[in-house]
Formats: sequence, structure tokens, C-alpha cells
Amino acid sequence: MSWLETGWRHVWLPYAQMRTAPLPLPAVRTVGSEIHLEDGRVLIDGIASWWTAVHGYNHPHIVEAVREQLERMPHVMFGGLGHEPAYRLATRLAARMPGSLNRVFFTDSGSVAVEVAIKIAVQSRLNRGERGRIKVLAFQGGYHGDTIGTMAICDPEEGMHSLFTGLLPEQPVVPLPRDDASIRAFEAYLDTHHKELAAIIVEPLVQGAGGMVFHDALVLQRLRRAATHYGLSLIFDEIFTGFGRTGTMFAFEAAGVAPDIVTLSKALTGGTSPLAVTIATDELFEAFLSDSYDTALMHGPTFMANPLGCAAANAALDLFETEDRLGQAARISAQLARELAPCRGLKGVKDVRVLGAIGVVQMEAIENPAALRTKLIGQGVWVRPFRDILYLTPALTISAAELTQLTGAIYRVLERDAL
Ligand SMILES: *Cc1c(COP(=O)(O)O)cnc(C)c1O
Repeated sequence: MSWLETGWRHVWLPYAQMRTAPLPLPAVRTVGSEIHLEDGRVLIDGIASWWTAVHGYNHPHIVEAVREQLERMPHVMFGGLGHEPAYRLATRLAARMPGSLNRVFFTDSGSVAVEVAIKIAVQSRLNRGERGRIKVLAFQGGYHGDTIGTMAICDPEEGMHSLFTGLLPEQPVVPLPRDDASIRAFEAYLDTHHKELAAIIVEPLVQGAGGMVFHDALVLQRLRRAATHYGLSLIFDEIFTGFGRTGTMFAFEAAGVAPDIVTLSKALTGGTSPLAVTIATDELFEAFLSDSYDTALMHGPTFMANPLGCAAANAALDLFETEDRLGQAARISAQLARELAPCRGLKGVKDVRVLGAIGVVQMEAIENPAALRTKLIGQGVWVRPFRDILYLTPALTISAAELTQLTGAIYRVLERDAL
């Protein structure tokens, strides 16, 4: 019996009904945009392993940096000991942030980076003696993680707020202010409740896990004005949008908005290892300074600022400087728009949309995502339909021919289903 079949009795899969979940495909090797399976099949990866591998798998520059770090010092604790990869990475990330976003707190997953962002927003107010400002305003369709604190600021359906009533902190979740009615509702909510709020959190430009729903810069500018007016911290969760995905290095650039806190993870290490950061303004940081521990940020994951992850992240940042990633994102964008457009005419297709290196085909409904995935695998591509969408978020290094394989596979599978 293979390791897969033996281990299958002991492994618990993500987002899966384990009674009906099919056996996963045994992956043994990756290179560029290819995933090699044990039986010799090769799949073109359309989603870059949950949006992480933006430079393609096994980029030699990242591999070399991690190997060098592995031999020298795979890990040391971050309390009391400093290491160059983290200090250099913090300096480089801060240099790419607008305004006074200068303080970098390291964690090891996106969810925890968001937890830290919430803690910073709330505690900074408590430290300044402002009582009662302990809530975070979030938006329907949003996704910010799977931990208890972040579930509470996800879309109520997806975060299963009603199932976990009493466990989750209660957070206000309102529609994104994008049309007259939702703008009025947003303003009315703030008008009545701003004294309970510490922050507003949003995924800028694209709500990713909520179904790749786009909004424009005006929405973000509106949030910025409201946050400033009511003295709230504006948190941009750029865990999905960061590092070129929407066409600029970060979504806040396209929006022309400087948030007060930014969270980054997913593509931070180029898909090499887990690492996340929460970046805060000087003003927020200063609210934690005093002569006592009472106002300190009491947080410190065991593997905080893991040197292997930081080495990978520094190498990944190098690649944005030495290779034309944003040019590649623009070319991918144009190709996605061109090659997904024919899907518009197919039966069951509700919408086709592209932003940066994100291509989405939205269906009226997807009855059986697992069956659709199997058909796509038959076409030699790794694409995971979810909710009502098929989407592509490939490595920014993907070749034009590989991208055509992905778009072609989606078209053929939908065309055949429509017949
Ligand atoms: C994936 C994601 C998270 C959670 O990150 P994890 O590393 O899975 O905990 C949070 N916010 C956004 C916008 C994400 O896309």
C-alpha cells in the first residue's frame, strides 16, 4: 500500500467533507508552473498553490538563498536574538510602504497577521486611555482567515457566525460601500457606532476567497476618508493582493490610499515557506511606548521571523527588482482578457472578469466542483473551482503557451458541459 493510502486514514484535509473527499493527487515534484505527479502526469498550475508561488516553483535564486540560510542557521528565537534576514526584510518592506508604515511584526500565517493587526488597532486605543473602542468593522464577502478572531470578521455565512455564536467575538459586518444604498448604510452605521470601533478592515480591490469580487479605488478612498474622520485605523489585508497580483506591487498603490496597517503573507516568500507580517504606522507603534509592560504588544509566535522564511522573502523581493514581474503581470492580464472572453458566450456563464493577473469565469452555479476539477485535471491543468467560479491566478512567470493551456482547458470543459 502506498504512503498516500496508508496516511489517508490519519490525515484531515482542509475545507473537506472527509466522507466524500476524493483521494488527493500524489505530488512529487514542482518546477516553474508544473506540478509533477507520482504516476508521471504533469499539471500546469493555474492557481500557484493558493496564490503563493508568484515566481514559479523552485526559482533558483530563492532555492539558493534558502539553502545557504539552512546550512548557516535554520532558526533562532526572535526574542532577544536578532538575525540579518529579518532585520533586512523589515527594512526593505518598510521602504515599499507609503506614509509612516514603518513597523514590521513577523508571524507565521496570514490569519495570525490579521489577529495581530486587530490587537494593534484595539490595544493602541486602550493604551491611550480610550475605552470601549474594541470592535472592527468588516465587509460582506470578505475573508481574513480561519482562526477564531478572524472568522468573526469574515463574511457571516462563510465564517459560520451563527454556528459559532458565543465563541466568536461579535463584529459588525456591513456591505462594501460601493453604490448609493450601501454608502448610506455604511455612513449611517459609522454615525451611530463609531465610538465602539477601533478599525475598518478590507481586502483592497479584490475580495479573494469570497469569490474574486472586484471593487474600485473609489471604495477604498471612501473608507480612508471615513476612517480618518472617525479616528479609526484602516487595515488593508493584502495577503492575497500583495506582490503584483492586481497589477501593481500592492493594491494600495493603484488605489492611491495609505492605510494604517497592512498585512502580507501568501506570496511573501514566493510560496517557499510560511511567513507573514503586520506593518503598522509610527503613530500606532508609539501608542505602545511607555515605562511599563502594561502597554507592550504581548505577542510572539515561537517561529516568529523564521530565518529560512525571511531568507526566502528577501530573495523573492530581489526578483521583483531584477526580473520584470509587473510587466509579466500586465502581459498575463491582457492574455487572460483575450483568451477568457470567448467563455462569455457559453451556456451557464454569468460573468468573465480580469484584474491584473487574476482571471475569473463566474457561473450561474457550479453543482459539482469536484467533478469539474476532475475534468480539468483530464485537460492537464490544476484549477480548483469553488463557490460559483473558476479562476486563474498563475505564477507571474508562467509562459504564454502554458497560460493558453489553462484558458483553453477552462473553455473546453465549460463548452463540453454546455452541450
Ligand atoms: C489567505 C488569506 C488569509 C489567511 O491566511 P492564512 O495564511 O491562510 O492564515 C487572510 N486574508 C486574506 C485576504 C487571505 O487571502
